[in-house]
Amino acid sequence: MAGPYQSILLFGPPGVGKGTQGEILARIPGFFHSSTGAIFRSLDMTSDIGKLFYQYSSRGELVPDDVTIKIWSQHAYASTVIGLFKPAQDLLVLDGLPRNPAQAKLLYKYINVLKIINLVCKDREALFERMKKRALKQNRADDAKDGVIRRRFEVYEQETRPVLEFYDPALITEVDAMGSPAEVLWHILEAVAPIQTAHFQNPL
Ligand code: ADP
Repeated sequence: MAGPYQSILLFGPPGVGKGTQGEILARIPGFFHSSTGAIFRSLDMTSDIGKLFYQYSSRGELVPDDVTIKIWSQHAYASTVIGLFKPAQDLLVLDGLPRNPAQAKLLYKYINVLKIINLVCKDREALFERMKKRALKQNRADDAKDGVIRRRFEVYEQETRPVLEFYDPALITEVDAMGSPAEVLWHILEAVAPIQTAHFQNPL
């Protein structure tokens, strides 16, 4: 049986706006946003796990699956303990996870996927420029160098995109990521609002 966290996946290539939209959704009561990138960046960079994260992210590579799932599941559980995330009421909005089919399998015991929002942008150069701007603003090692960004796109194509094949196609809604933030949000809400309504009508 699928896991207890009722979930919505924000899916798409690096720089497509998953974090921006996830943060907006998190402001709506009944949504809990969980970003593995943000969780990793909040680690103490002098700790073993912080160093491991830096070692992989600074090359544009994925952190090993077992570590990723362990850190993420501990973070999710800790969030329930302190009452930030209430799985019986809240929909979990996952951003940046799963990043490959092996992670999708490992997540099966934690999450029940109700919807996948696939943010699409064919214009890789536009995403590239967005990431360079973001790196300057946020002081991010993974997006500062052109070669690292290119590697992140390769990893997305080779490892992350196949995740879509793991799930029922009926769950997937494509959203054009190149609209204004409000327009993208609008299309995401069209897909997720009915899910929240159903979840409230049949709470766990
Ligand atoms: P953001 O969402 O802010 O763009 P990312 O999701 O790209 O941040 O995460 C930054 C880095 O964290 C990635 O380059 C990768 O090294 C690591 N990371 C994030 N999520 C995962 C994941 N699910 N599996 C493995 N590594 C991850």
